[in-house]
Amino acid sequence: MTRTFENEPETDFTVEANARAFRDALTQVRGELGRSYPLIIDGEEIHAEPGLSSVSPADPDLVIGRFPAAGAETAARALEAAERAFETWSRVSAPERAHYLVATAAEVRRQRHRLAAWMVYEVGKSWGEADGEVAECVDLMEYYARRMLDLDGPQNDTLGSVPGEDNEFFYVSLGAGVVISPWNFPLALTFGMASAAMVAGNTVVVKPASNSPTSVYHVARILQDLGLPPGVLNVVTGRGEAVGQTLVEHPRTRFVAFTGSMDVGVGIHARAAQLQPGQVWLKRTVLELGGKNAVIVDADADLDAAVDGVVASAFGFQGQKCSAGSRAVIDQRVYDDFVVKLIERVRELKVGDPVDPAVTVGPVVDERAYRDIRRYIETGAREGTLLVGGMSDAPEGDKGYFIPPTVFGDVDPKAIIAQEEIFGPVLACIKAKDFDDALAIANDTKYGLTGAVFSRSRTKLERARREFQVGNLYLNRKSTGALMGVHPFGGFKMSGTDSKAGGPDYLLHFLQGKSVGERLSNSTARPG
Ligand code: NAP
Ligand code: MG
Repeated sequence: MTRTFENEPETDFTVEANARAFRDALTQVRGELGRSYPLIIDGEEIHAEPGLSSVSPADPDLVIGRFPAAGAETAARALEAAERAFETWSRVSAPERAHYLVATAAEVRRQRHRLAAWMVYEVGKSWGEADGEVAECVDLMEYYARRMLDLDGPQNDTLGSVPGEDNEFFYVSLGAGVVISPWNFPLALTFGMASAAMVAGNTVVVKPASNSPTSVYHVARILQDLGLPPGVLNVVTGRGEAVGQTLVEHPRTRFVAFTGSMDVGVGIHARAAQLQPGQVWLKRTVLELGGKNAVIVDADADLDAAVDGVVASAFGFQGQKCSAGSRAVIDQRVYDDFVVKLIERVRELKVGDPVDPAVTVGPVVDERAYRDIRRYIETGAREGTLLVGGMSDAPEGDKGYFIPPTVFGDVDPKAIIAQEEIFGPVLACIKAKDFDDALAIANDTKYGLTGAVFSRSRTKLERARREFQVGNLYLNRKSTGALMGVHPFGGFKMSGTDSKAGGPDYLLHFLQGKSVGERLSNSTARPG
C-alpha cells in the first residue's frame, strides 16, 4: 500500500457503460432477494430460524433478506468468541492488520455495483447515493489502514528525556467491543467503526440495524472470505433492545461504538457506565448521534447556489442523513426571493422507486419512519405555511413509503419542526433579522452536527468559522457529503462524543497509551 491516501472516485453514470453495469448489478441482485442468511460467530455461519426480515421500502412485500433474531445467550456467545480471538489478534502486527483492510477495500471496490445495488433495494438509496456510500466505505478502510501505521510502534517524538532512563510511549489495543450501526449508511458506518476497531487490534461483535442486515452481511462475508481469523469480526442480527442491550451490558465488553439516534445513544451511554459484576474496566463509548442542521442564507448570498445547496442538503437520500440540512435560516431581505426559487427547484425532484435512475427522492425506510414523518408534516401545517409537498402530493395507491419533499415557510425557530430531528424529506424555512440573528437561531438547538453558510462576505464567513457550534461546518456548499480523510466527521453537543470518523485521531478511541520508563544500568541496557 502507498502511504498517501486518496479518496475513491464516484461512478459517473452518464457514461453508458457504467449505467449498463449498474443495471446488470440490479438485475443480478434482484434474482438473489429473499434468501436466508446466518449469523457469523467465531468464523462459523450459524443458521437459525429467521426471526427478522428486511424488506424493500419501495415495496414492503419484497423481502430482501431473512435473518435470525439472536437472543441474549447468542449475543453473549459472540462477545466471548471475540474476547478469545483478541488474545491472538492483538498480537498480529499492525501492518498485517492494516493489510486486511486494504485487501477488503480492493474487493469492495471490485464488487462496488453489486454492493450498491443491495442498498438500492434494501434501504431505498438512489444510484448515486448508493455508489457514493460504497466509495466512502473504501475510503474509511484505506484511511484507517494508513493511520494505524502512523500509530504503530514507539511515539516518542513528543516525550522529554531523563538522563539514565529509557522512556517509551506506545499504543496498545483495548479488547473485545461492540459495534452498533444504523441503517442509513449500512456499509460506511458499520465498517467504518468496525475497521477502526479491528485495525487497532481489537475484536468486535457487530449488531447491524434491522432494516439493513443484508447490505452489512455481504461486506462481512468479504472479510471472512479473505481469511480474517475467526472471532475477530462477529455479526449478530436481532432487535436492538434485545441483542444490542445485552452486548452493551456484558461485563467483558471493553468498548461500544454506536451510530444512531440520540435517544438510543443516550441510553447506551448510561448502560455502558453502569458497572456489572465482574467488570474490571470503564467501558469506552464512541457515540455518533443525530442532528438538526441549519443552512444559513445570508442577504448577500448567491441565491442560486444557496438553493442548490439547501435542496441537496435537505432532500438527498430523502433527508435521511444525520448531516441533512433540515432548517434553512434565511435573511429577511432575501427570504421571499429565495423561497420562490426554492419551491421551483423542489418541484423538479422526482419521487419514486430508486431502481429508476431518474428518481432523486426514494422512499423513507420503513412504516414507522413513514408514520412519524407524516405526523411531523401535520405538526408543520399548524406551525408554519406549507410551501410545497405535504401528504396530499403523495403518490396514490403506492405500496412504498413515499413522502414528497416538503417545505414549510415562516417557521418559528422554537417550533417543534425546527427543533426535533425528523429524519425525512421535511425542511423548515426560518426568517432571520440579520446575520447575528441567523447565527443565534442556527445555534439554538441541542444538536451540533453539521451546518452550512452561504454568504459573499469574508467577515461573516470568518464569524461562522468561530461561532457556528457544529462539528462540521461548510461554507458556500451543502452540509452533506463529507469526504473521509478530508472532512473528519462528527458533532458537538447532543450529536455525539466529539469523535471524528475519518479523521486523524479517530483510531485513538480504540487504543490506549502505555508509558514505560526504565532506569538504565550497564548490565540491563537494551540493545540499540
Ligand atoms: P436507531 O434507531 O438509534 O438505531 C441504531 C442502532 O441501534 C440499530 O442497530 C438499532 O437496532 C440499535 N438499537 C436500538 N435500540 C437499542 C438499544 N436499546 N440498545 C442497543 N442498541 C439499540 O437509529 P437509526 O434509525 O438506525 O438511524 C438513524 C439515526 O442515526 C438518526 O438519528 C441519525 O441522525 C443517526 N445517525 C448519526 C450519524 C452520525 O455520524 N452522527 C450517522 C448516521 C446516522 P434495530 O435496528 O434492531 O432497532
Ligand atoms: Mg428495509
